[in-house]
Amino acid sequence: MSDIEARLEDLRETGLYRRMRHVSGPQGSRVVLDGRPVLLLCSNNYLGLADHPRVREAAADAAMRWGAGAGASRLVSGTMTVHRRLEEALAAFKGTESSVLFGSGYLANLGVIGALARLSADTAGSGGPPPVVFSDELNHASIIDGCRLARAETFVYDHCDVEHLAWGLRQHRDRPGLIVTDSVFSMDGDIAPLAEIAELAQRHGVRTVVDEAHGTGCFGPGGRGAVAEAGLEGEIDVVIGTLGKALGAYGAFAACSAAMRDLLTNTARSLIFSTALPPPAVAAALAALEVLQEHPEMVDRLQANADAMRDELAREGFEVAGSSTQIIPLVVGDAELAMKVSEQAIEAGVFAQAIRPPTVPAGTSRLRLALMATHTREELRAAARTLGRAALQAGFRPGAGVPVAAAAPAGHPDERLAVAGEDAAAA
Ligand code: PMP
Repeated sequence: MSDIEARLEDLRETGLYRRMRHVSGPQGSRVVLDGRPVLLLCSNNYLGLADHPRVREAAADAAMRWGAGAGASRLVSGTMTVHRRLEEALAAFKGTESSVLFGSGYLANLGVIGALARLSADTAGSGGPPPVVFSDELNHASIIDGCRLARAETFVYDHCDVEHLAWGLRQHRDRPGLIVTDSVFSMDGDIAPLAEIAELAQRHGVRTVVDEAHGTGCFGPGGRGAVAEAGLEGEIDVVIGTLGKALGAYGAFAACSAAMRDLLTNTARSLIFSTALPPPAVAAALAALEVLQEHPEMVDRLQANADAMRDELAREGFEVAGSSTQIIPLVVGDAELAMKVSEQAIEAGVFAQAIRPPTVPAGTSRLRLALMATHTREELRAAARTLGRAALQAGFRPGAGVPVAAAAPAGHPDERLAVAGEDAAAA
């Protein structure tokens, strides 16, 4: 057996083997999955904009007007009219002075954390120590990888625990610092205590980066995100958002001051050394942003759907209290059991992907439900019943899941960093 086969066998034996399922047609609220029609309950196309007619037309028009690709890095020949337009629109939307596009949310986190975590180390003659990065233990894999790539000293604080964060800040008071957090946590659907984090950052004189991948377009006034909901617009050093989730396209951005944009343009390696976003993706995101601003009621519909789904799932006996957004985890615990529940649900016409380690901590495998504004109440009611039945058929009693906090890995922060971030998240 080759080392590749051995590794794959190992993944199969531990219930962690993954395969890509095939979806025919666009990412609507209903899709054909491996030939079977299903309700899609695990896509981040939260507002249904990926297949919105205006967004598709904008992409098609941009391909005809500006071509299929950007040709080079933004710094070489890749910055085009459409890139600048979207950056201006995103800065206005997020209430910041400026914004800068990245190839994806993953690349944005790598680039921004890399630039800020190496700031003093790379400044000639500064002589100061590099910043410590304070990172929530359930932050997305791209944040963890950003810390690793920057070779940053990282303090991993317990999930959303501002006391622990404050303790860490006190321990490192002689060092510059950077607090990094998801706003809406991608696998748990809860929200970071942003007001307290911003207050701590100000008190300790450290910078803040907030990843609004699942907040942008989904949460807060007009879908402006959890930062806007907390009244912190313009107060976070860098707000990262993706264009590939609620905005239905592909790519990402960092919303920030003009000086920060300048710094990122000069030092964020994932921006400097990677081809600019293709014009059709940029134009699609711009059109999606326009549709969102014309129809902010889509955001209300999304959150109302999430509320309704939580009620329906609670009626089936599921524990859903941890989520307050469009992401609802049904924590099963065991990886193989979570797969079984997911398979049973697919057979009954509901696609809710099982999420297993290393995307989530060991013992907290789950079905991660992602609601869409375009789901109907009838669809959700039926899906909750299907999920309840699928759980029982697979041998899992709804509500018997392990609370995420109880199963969170303990130990030295560096060990926890490794446990939480071995691989990219699936969402
Ligand atoms: N941050 C978070 C919190 C995410 O959930 C994701 C996507 N899974 C990313 C960043 C990466 O974004 P993208 O898919 O645009 O690379």
